[in-house]
Amino acid sequence: MNDARSRRLFATAQDLFPGGVNSPVRAFKSVGGTPRFLVRGEGARVYDVDGREYIDYVGSWGPLILGHADVEVTSAIQRAAASGSSFGAPNPAEIELGRAIRSAMPSMQLMRFVSSGTEACMSALRLARAFTGRELIVKFDGCYHGHADAVLVNAGSGALTLGVPSSAGVPASLAALTVVVPYNDIAALERVFKDHHDTIACITIEPIAANMGLVLPQPGFLPAVVDIAHRHGALVIFDEVITGFRVAHGGAQSLYGITPDLTCLGKIIGAGLPVGAFGGRADIMRRLAPLGDVYQAGTLSGNPIAMAAGVSQLRRLAQPGAYERLESLGAALEAGLRALLHAREIPAQLNRVGSIFGLFFNGQPVLDLACVMRSDAKRYAAFFHAMLERGVYLAPSAFEVGFISLAHSPADIDDTIAAAGQSLGVTAVAARS
Ligand code: PMP
Repeated sequence: MNDARSRRLFATAQDLFPGGVNSPVRAFKSVGGTPRFLVRGEGARVYDVDGREYIDYVGSWGPLILGHADVEVTSAIQRAAASGSSFGAPNPAEIELGRAIRSAMPSMQLMRFVSSGTEACMSALRLARAFTGRELIVKFDGCYHGHADAVLVNAGSGALTLGVPSSAGVPASLAALTVVVPYNDIAALERVFKDHHDTIACITIEPIAANMGLVLPQPGFLPAVVDIAHRHGALVIFDEVITGFRVAHGGAQSLYGITPDLTCLGKIIGAGLPVGAFGGRADIMRRLAPLGDVYQAGTLSGNPIAMAAGVSQLRRLAQPGAYERLESLGAALEAGLRALLHAREIPAQLNRVGSIFGLFFNGQPVLDLACVMRSDAKRYAAFFHAMLERGVYLAPSAFEVGFISLAHSPADIDDTIAAAGQSLGVTAVAARS
């Protein structure tokens, strides 16, 4: 494979950035090999410095639900940029995006924009602690809520890939305030509340776990989370950084008909520009400065270019048929991959919700992190490289998910399935040798 330029750039990058990257999973550490340096994206495709083209299922880790360099989003960004990049003052685009979000997610009665998912999650936790006057938080094993200290405890995503579920540098005294429960385990959650019931401020959860591969909530699990929390006076925070505007216009909360107290959103509401938001019950949100006593701020919060990009993207997602199309592309990919796995008798679990999918080389259903860790990550790495070789760019880690965009065509899905047919053959040989 011709990756000479990527190799050269990666060598140079190591001299500037730890591990040559500015976010760990990009380094290909868990799949091996050299990360591709990308120079261009268009629709469902990305192009690397060596002139190779890939059908992209990373989509900047989710936000590019319209595909790369969407014409309308790009012109909205250009128009906004021409009027100034940042004011550090209120601007009308904040209101437009805020309205678009609240009409999709009415539970976000009041919200605040931030610049990343990490910030959204971190701020929501502070608010929940202040509102309840309690300090403990409950999170689920393998869920990722950004890299703030409080939630870098048994976290997913890069923390999982690199085998450092709890980062060095997180004070033990702070980590001790985070109680970790297996995903989908209602009995364990009950036990934790029995032990700590009036000291738990909130449960924070990915309503569909997408940072340990894709792990779906089992029927009854999310309602139980809300019920247990509320019975004990704790709040429920849905981290919809991945699922918001992705699994349905109203996110996982509308898909499952569950109303959290607070919601965190991320990159998708900025169409790939640095944005996040948290919001929810007005009585809770009113505790935020300048109304209340919970401090939270950001120079670039509500950035006009990011707001304009988000408004443009959400407008398109509100059009009839958007999620039906994503579902039909997802269903086609699932059916094709399932048929291949079945025909070759490969022990695998293909989890999917709408346009998010996750493939585990694992013979048993995957319900929590313990199941995830029993999957064959080496086989995923071989599959990943075989797919890359054939022009399909999957997540460079067995513990991440794939994203389909509205720019993917049925022909792209067919080509992906054809590539998978060849790649699974190669990985079967690799697995045996
Ligand atoms: N929460 C979830 C569920 C995420 O998947 C992520 C990152 N993908 C974050 C929070 C953190 O977002 P960011 O990387 O924008 O800080």
